[in-house]
Amino acid sequence: MSSKLVIGNWKMNGRHAANLALLGQMLENADINRDGVGLAAPAVYLAQLASVLQGSAMAVAAQDVSRFATDGAFTGENSAQMLADVGCRYVLIGHSERRQYFGEQNDALSAKLQAVAAAGMVPVLCVGETLAEREAGQELAVISQQLEALAAIKGQEYVVAYEPVWAIGTGKVATIEQIDAVHQQIRALVLQCYGASDSIRVLYGGSVKADNADAILSLASVGGALVGGASLEVNGFGKICQAAKKLI
Ligand code: PEP
Repeated sequence: MSSKLVIGNWKMNGRHAANLALLGQMLENADINRDGVGLAAPAVYLAQLASVLQGSAMAVAAQDVSRFATDGAFTGENSAQMLADVGCRYVLIGHSERRQYFGEQNDALSAKLQAVAAAGMVPVLCVGETLAEREAGQELAVISQQLEALAAIKGQEYVVAYEPVWAIGTGKVATIEQIDAVHQQIRALVLQCYGASDSIRVLYGGSVKADNADAILSLASVGGALVGGASLEVNGFGKICQAAKKLI
């Protein structure tokens, strides 16, 4: 048994001095500074996070990784081995903003999953439907297709994050019933197709805040939370991390 996992996704936010101040506050907060809490920062700040969080229980996460696994002529890229080298434990793969703005699809995402697993880190595959897809009743078909990328790392450790695109950064939260239904379906699909053990962890993401975290994280099907906006402020993030102190 372990506690539910919370990963804060800072997205493209942060500056050296502001990060230092925020991390200092987080390190002093016992709900945040504990095993089962991680922070995903922009690549240029990962070494800073690893250095400041060294010796703490918190984990460092990357927001993306190159699909190219070996060093070479790939200007602008950060390889999985580099992310592991600077101290990352988790790597987000296929966040909806990567899918939307950079056209990422399963072929590239499979390569990223493989590279991250081979470098000894835990990939966090993000899946979720758009509002149009949900209104057309296609959410399961979409998620099922997105989960196919996991075939690349069958039998290895990974985390899935269910993030309905219409709930990310919008303040709209899926209902508890919607979250539970999709999480149960994701667990069933993963168990059936990719031979994962019962320990498969499915995080929920999409406008998780201090005031809805307890209800969401009380669901047995929810293994934790991927938190965007609310991870940029210590009090709200602390309350979410406190709500995640539940065993799965
Ligand atoms: C996210 O960045 O993955 C996310 C869920 O963002 P927010 O919590 O701001 O909706």
